[in-house]
Amino acid sequence: METKKNPFKAEIAEMLDLVVNSLYSKKEIFLRELISNASDAIDRAKFLGLTDKALVADSPEWKIQIAADREAKTLMVSDNGIGMDADDLENNLGTIARSGTKKFREMLKEKGGESLPELIGQFGVGFYAAFMVADKVTVETLKRGTETPLKWESDMSGGYTVSDGERDFPGTSVTLHLRDDQLEYLDWWRAGELVKKYSDFIAYPIYFREIVKETPPPADEKAAKAAEDERKRREEREAKPLNTMVALWKRAKKDVKQEEYDEFYKHLTHDWEAPFETIPFSGEGAVEFKALLFLPKKATMELFMPQQKRGLSLYVRNVFIGDDIEMLLPNWLRFVKGVVDSSDLPLNVSREMLQDDAIVQKIKSAVTAKVLSTLEDLKKKDAKRYDEFWSAFGTVVKEGVHTDYTNADRIKKLLKYPTARTDAGKTVFLEDYVKDMASGQKDIYYLCAEREEDARRAPQLEAARKHGCDVLLWCDPVDDYLTESLREFDGKSFVDVAKGDVQFGSDDEKKAEKEANEKAAADLKPVLERVKKELGDKVSDVRVSTRLTDSPCCLVAQEHALPPSMVRMMRAMKQDVPDEKRIFEINASHPLVAKLKGLEGEAFGDAVELLYDSALIAEGSPVADGAKFAKLLADLMMK
Ligand code: ADP
Repeated sequence: METKKNPFKAEIAEMLDLVVNSLYSKKEIFLRELISNASDAIDRAKFLGLTDKALVADSPEWKIQIAADREAKTLMVSDNGIGMDADDLENNLGTIARSGTKKFREMLKEKGGESLPELIGQFGVGFYAAFMVADKVTVETLKRGTETPLKWESDMSGGYTVSDGERDFPGTSVTLHLRDDQLEYLDWWRAGELVKKYSDFIAYPIYFREIVKETPPPADEKAAKAAEDERKRREEREAKPLNTMVALWKRAKKDVKQEEYDEFYKHLTHDWEAPFETIPFSGEGAVEFKALLFLPKKATMELFMPQQKRGLSLYVRNVFIGDDIEMLLPNWLRFVKGVVDSSDLPLNVSREMLQDDAIVQKIKSAVTAKVLSTLEDLKKKDAKRYDEFWSAFGTVVKEGVHTDYTNADRIKKLLKYPTARTDAGKTVFLEDYVKDMASGQKDIYYLCAEREEDARRAPQLEAARKHGCDVLLWCDPVDDYLTESLREFDGKSFVDVAKGDVQFGSDDEKKAEKEANEKAAADLKPVLERVKKELGDKVSDVRVSTRLTDSPCCLVAQEHALPPSMVRMMRAMKQDVPDEKRIFEINASHPLVAKLKGLEGEAFGDAVELLYDSALIAEGSPVADGAKFAKLLADLMMK
């Protein structure tokens, strides 16, 4: 095979540049990343070997080896896992594998080198961490089931080469040509420390070997004995794996330090931060299993990418079976990470069959229930932490109301919203909203807006405020989309204060208001008609408002109008959604309206236009002709 020289894809080149120039103090994590990859490669080989015996015909003793060569200044991490063929090399080591490359580049630009390690983790490009300590990396690999060993090499200057390799047994070795100031990693003690810190739970033994040149024994007897003793000591310590290999989820919670859980979580997720919550538990009774779940601190972008595929990892008697999303958790809990290990499942079932397996379904319900009860506990016991969780994952949890019919009622109780009464950034649970409802209030009121600030200022809230009714502010794009599934809470319906007819207060108050309203409408009929003529087809109707106290006017949607987020989504999907005309509502008791009655001709037209535009501005919408609005306003001020 010819040596093939390939340029790196642009984002890799940029990233490498940052890696090399980063002064990041935790360069040591490169070892964790390489060991993680080696362990994944063995997992895969083992799993594929279950059904394709030929792949594991060499009956491998699964292991990971670190070899340090002080003379050559190289550190090698080697595994006997699945290996890579030419396509794998190109797809896995030549590009950023499983994520939005464009996004990666943007974030890299935006955040700069400081956040590099975090980004490396998030984007699954851990392999490149090697370049934090090495100026050249050589990968020798032989894919199981193939016969062509390959060698991949890069010194980062522009690209990588792929050529014939020398490896004579399946698996992969990654050799780092260490920089002169990074030779500490050749040390047995230092490597051992790092393995304990980051990779103790790895299920395969990690051995360390120092490559020493054979030299003839020293002539001096004492020196010869010392050399021999040293050799023995080395052999002894190198015969023992550096890691304990105990699967963390099998150890009792009291025997595991939080730091160990944290490192395991980082290994599993590539997250840079420790988890927000660690949930070890076991299922007993109908199905026996052990689980170790984590709630991350922050949402990753991955959560909102449809191609996200990784969910909880399923192990059957220590063999990694798969981590298909939705196998062990409903989609709305896709932010939960972790491991489930069961000995009740057969080893030789295909992943596709697992999806429908009754035992897997039982595990799924148990795991889901556990996460729900953890969240319920958190809600009860620690409001501040619950809020942290909610601001990271609230949007995803809300999806559950729509998609997880079985648990919808429990999920509803986890929902939090800002309201017209809360301070900015604060939210309330639906049950607290209901508890604090005004006397006589029957419905739960909400108002949709793109931004919370706009919602708080919206004139549509005025009458609700006057009647002592609080209003939920739905500013998350999924909120109004959920109205259909949310429908009711605690027997109360959800009512949009900016839509159709809405009236507040007791039945008596409503009746009185209705009468007053009808009377005002009759009195104002001629003005309403003139306003309507003036606004033409900008609006569907002009009428007297029941929701205003201080503002002169506002715009409201018709009773059965589609929620704005639905319209946006349908348009994004290239569906033809006509503009829904809204109703222009006038506050009959506002002094401006009395003034309006007395205006004629151009003055009347200008005033109506100003009022209409100010209604748009009040709700945070753009006006159609800003320049004209400014001129009308200036003219008015001059008068
Ligand atoms: P990640 O492990 O998060 O996917 P990496 O950059 O560390 O990202 O690795 C990219 C890919 O390269 C891996 O997903 C895997 O397919 C492949 N790879 C890396 N190391 C090995 C290895 N030792 N054996 C087999 N494949 C490997």
